[in-house]
Amino acid sequence: MRIIVAGGLGFIGTNFIRHLFSEEADVKIVNIDKMGVGSNPKNLEDLKKQANYSFVEGDISDPSVINNLIQEADAIVNFAAETHVDRSIKNPQIFIQSNILGVFNILESIRKHNRSINFVQVSTDEVYGEIEEGSFHEFDRLNPSNPYSASKAAADMLCLAYHRTYGLDVKITRCTNNFGPYQFPEKLIPKTIIRALRNLQVPIYGTGANIRDWIYVLDHCEAIRLVLEKGRAGEIYNVSSGNEVSNLEVVKEILQHLGKNEDLISFVEDRPGHDRRYSLDSSKIRSELGWRPKYDFSSALKKTIEWYLENESWWRPLATREVLHSTPWRHG
Ligand code: NAD
Repeated sequence: MRIIVAGGLGFIGTNFIRHLFSEEADVKIVNIDKMGVGSNPKNLEDLKKQANYSFVEGDISDPSVINNLIQEADAIVNFAAETHVDRSIKNPQIFIQSNILGVFNILESIRKHNRSINFVQVSTDEVYGEIEEGSFHEFDRLNPSNPYSASKAAADMLCLAYHRTYGLDVKITRCTNNFGPYQFPEKLIPKTIIRALRNLQVPIYGTGANIRDWIYVLDHCEAIRLVLEKGRAGEIYNVSSGNEVSNLEVVKEILQHLGKNEDLISFVEDRPGHDRRYSLDSSKIRSELGWRPKYDFSSALKKTIEWYLENESWWRPLATREVLHSTPWRHG
């Protein structure tokens, strides 16, 4: 199978490419990434010498990039997106460009040049917005709260419309919060690990009561692989492992693993529009495709902390002043 992976130099894309090579004997991957925020060319440097892997620097919001590669491909998995909610609040424009226009270009390219292609759009639980009780199903209404989640919701709608109108083979995955190796230092778990290691205050939005359903990145990657291979066209698959934990509990657990005092925790002004709780029902992917999470939260968190301890040379050049230094903490 010849697969275009878009956004493969980011956190999940990097883990997915490695996962696919470890699971599939006969796969050829072209990784397209614009090398923007969240990417790191070092992530997959060791694969460069493999004949079944190649990298193209390119932006999915430029139609020629996908058009040039699509005729040679059997599938596209799209991770390429601007992903940081705080950045989307400061500067929404680039989120519209990459997350909506980029997906539109992929769909147009498939429609015009290779209609048989198998396309997986990697989406997020954030498109549903927050939920006080219970969990969202795939058929629930979308209610995004910030420019990032709104842009992802718009892309999902385009994908479903292109399936319905033109019969394209499109599938959507909507996953909860990921953690694991190669995650950009400004996200909650790596930032907490790095700052705690340096005995710096660890900022938490509001009271830290916001609940996220955390999944280890390799469980997400396996779900995407199954959807790519066995998912039904025009379908949405929620992916969650049922590890609902508040931000405060996540931070406390990291401090405990590192043997650090909870005095390091510092509560900062909440993010505007901050969703209180996300929760997904993932029974569809479990019953239809046989997916199950393999990693439990605490041991996967420990594995992740160990990875950051062992890979300071990876995260140090990426860490911004705000991650590495003490005050002032600017947020949102
Ligand atoms: P990331 O920010 O680490 O990586 C995104 C990658 O996409 C980067 O390498 C970036 O350079 C690239 N990119 C961005 N815009 C591009 C463009 N226009 N053209 C080409 N490349 C572009 O993000 P991530 O956390 O790995 O997330 C990957 C995908 O998974 C995103 O679509 C995100 O919405 C989705 N997702 C993430 C999570 C999570 O918890 N991280 C959860 C659910 C879904």
